[in-house]
Amino acid sequence: MQFRDLVKQYNALQSQINQAIHDVVAGGQYIMGQQVAELERQLSAYVGTKHCITCANGTDALTLALKAWGIGKGDAVFVPDFTFFSSAEVVALEGATPVFVDVDTATFNIDPQSLEDCIRRVKEEGAMVPRVIVAVDLFGLPANYGALRDVADRYGLLILEDGAQGFGGSIDDRRACSFGDISTTSFFPAKPLGCYGDGGAVFTDNDEWAAAIASLRIHGKGADKYDNVRIGLNSRLDTLQAAVLQVKLQAFDRELEQVNVAAEAYSRQLASHVVTPVVPSGYRSSWAQYTIQLPDISCRNALQQALRSVGIPSMVYYPKPMHAQTAFRSLDQFADYSRYAATRLCDTVLSLPIHPYIEQSEIDQVCRAVIDNLV
Ligand SMILES: *Cc1c(COP(=O)(O)O)cnc(C)c1O
Repeated sequence: MQFRDLVKQYNALQSQINQAIHDVVAGGQYIMGQQVAELERQLSAYVGTKHCITCANGTDALTLALKAWGIGKGDAVFVPDFTFFSSAEVVALEGATPVFVDVDTATFNIDPQSLEDCIRRVKEEGAMVPRVIVAVDLFGLPANYGALRDVADRYGLLILEDGAQGFGGSIDDRRACSFGDISTTSFFPAKPLGCYGDGGAVFTDNDEWAAAIASLRIHGKGADKYDNVRIGLNSRLDTLQAAVLQVKLQAFDRELEQVNVAAEAYSRQLASHVVTPVVPSGYRSSWAQYTIQLPDISCRNALQQALRSVGIPSMVYYPKPMHAQTAFRSLDQFADYSRYAATRLCDTVLSLPIHPYIEQSEIDQVCRAVIDNLV
């Protein structure tokens, strides 16, 4: 059994993907070919934003957003303590300070109350200016944007939606990657919409930021290619990856249905045995991960070992909160992190195999093994 079976997806889409790759190779426009601009139009239409600017990966997408806003030294950027390293790394790379906010145990996403506590503390201390909230759509579930927008408005902050895992999710009729003032995603192969290498995208309704990001991704180019007007990155999406993504975007809604059927099957069988992931009313997840919670670390580790011994892969996303990362050792101890739900989640979470092409029989096998090996 595969944790996320990308070859099965390829087999299902093989002839169209082969054709799309062939067309790029034969066409000769390997950098910024027409497929890149086409894909950007398709993605912005899908998500419901005015602009989409593709780039080299989901980490650069976040960096491009922070650069467009001029975030740097002296700025406080609020980041969930329970996320992938990139969400906080990009903040430090720009010279700003990540402030780690606790998450909600049920949804794994940033906790609006903890966020407000952190913003107040930064303002009281007065050493930094609160600027941005990085809201991560962890494991495919959109963050609580109703509450986050309220906090952002009250304190005059911008929202950067890190939708690297969230593409395809929604709240009511609104799709993920449209909730931030700027939103980003990743096309890393294992993400909900993945390509065959690295890729990413930035979404916004704001014309000025979109123009800055389009320039920043190509060395800060001006109207003339050899007049560079700002310091930027080399962060384009390859034409080949754009062509692959065009095919996969066509299949995406069907896959989204399938992965939701798989998640419901898991929850039906597991909900009375372990803590299963919560999807609040009106929300839809794209199920980048299906993550259960066990009572403690020894129980979690024993279960993972037992699953491994019968050939079932599982992953711990994430074993270490942001505040405990070695690279952030020099940051001030900003809160009593031992009380953070994020700290406990790192000991209790376990992500099970899930993808649009998982079979019901595989789900049954995983559920039986989970239930039989709880201690
Ligand atoms: C994967 C991921 C990223 C980074 O995406 P890359 O394309 O790998 O650079 C950023 N944030 C989150 C939450 C992610 O899961």
